Amino acid sequence: MKNVVLLGSTGSIGTSTVKVAEDLPDQIRLCGLAAGENAELLVEQIRKHRPLAASLNSPRKALELKEKLGEEFPVWSGPEGLIRLATMPEADIVLIAIVGTAGLQPALAAIRAGKDIAVASKEILVMAGEIVMNEARKHGVRVLAVDSEHSAIFQCMDGKPPSSVRRLILTASGGPFRDAKIWSQDRFEGITVENALKHPSWVMGRKITIDSATLFNKGLEMIEARWLFDIDMDRVGVVVHPQSVIHSMVEFVDGSILAQMSTPDMCLPIQYALTYPERKPSERVQTSFPRIGSLTFEEPDEKRFPSLELARRAGRQGGTLPAVLNAANEVAVEAFVNKRIPFPAIARLVDRVMNEHAWVEHPSLDQILEADVWARSAAAIR
Ligand code: NDP
Repeated sequence: MKNVVLLGSTGSIGTSTVKVAEDLPDQIRLCGLAAGENAELLVEQIRKHRPLAASLNSPRKALELKEKLGEEFPVWSGPEGLIRLATMPEADIVLIAIVGTAGLQPALAAIRAGKDIAVASKEILVMAGEIVMNEARKHGVRVLAVDSEHSAIFQCMDGKPPSSVRRLILTASGGPFRDAKIWSQDRFEGITVENALKHPSWVMGRKITIDSATLFNKGLEMIEARWLFDIDMDRVGVVVHPQSVIHSMVEFVDGSILAQMSTPDMCLPIQYALTYPERKPSERVQTSFPRIGSLTFEEPDEKRFPSLELARRAGRQGGTLPAVLNAANEVAVEAFVNKRIPFPAIARLVDRVMNEHAWVEHPSLDQILEADVWARSAAAIR
């Protein structure tokens, strides 16, 4: 039985994780749950799964939750609540699925308390990949990937050292604007929020869906992969694969390429992260090749999607630059969603903020967090 603390239990990854726990009641126990604001769904999850404690970001809602659940049930709040959950003595593994940067401190706290972590929140490794991986090595804990691409690479690597890898090949669906015949560059200024939220193969939270439309999501994943698998940035490539059946590939030094495949369903990588190193039976994912028909591949169009080169630059240069890219992108996505900037201005804004940044090569965690705050203010639309 694995005791799992789930941070972000009410979101897209969070609710899929709850399904996985329900599929494997003898293997997975949810011992701590955290959400941001959605107290209604959190109460339902608490009543069903009976964790030992819970947390809400909003202190007011946490108080209301406590009144509903009774004095004995511990309800915490804010960043402190996440850290208390992440370091609960009962927890074996902490799955972090919070949008934004709020997952970074709990991830480090969990590692330092000797817990394995399962990482969905990309921001953690993008912002502080070097620090997180060094801390994990120091404390002898695992950093397991929840993102389907990184889970695929992890499964293909199967314990092989980075020296056996020629390159990692991340697959990208290409998002809703993949087809240049329909979405030529001159139509990009007119892209609406509704257009960008129509992802062709995955149902996900709002921020990551917009990131999939700009391909910033793939850029963030390139940086994440660089740290998770200890491979330099120039050996992390991207290929567009619209069917989203191959979740990523590893090309080894002898030229052999391994791919991991299945129809898209986040329950699969989540389950693998939580049951690793074992594989447990699941009926959720059924892949029929005749039904899929064909698998196709294309070069990403870096002219229409400059996000890939921006991410490559941030990943190559390292230091505080990936945190700046991540924070500026978050602000830009919010501005686009609120109809304050057009779609192509997301990448332009990130580029400008990266160019203005006073870069720190080997930052401390505090310097990374300062760079994050600086980038948010530099990116703000006034
Ligand atoms: P959602 O927006 O669907 O969910 C976010 C979750 O985080 C919600 O439970 C939300 O609570 C909670 N939350 C937000 N802020 C806080 C906070 N300060 N404290 C506690 N909880 C908080 O996002 P996704 O599930 O789509 O994505 C989560 C992360 O996983 C992102 O980093 C994303 O990039 C990554 N990811 C997502 C994939 C997907 O398929 N969705 C695939 C791979 C990676 P509330 O509901 O109350 O607001």
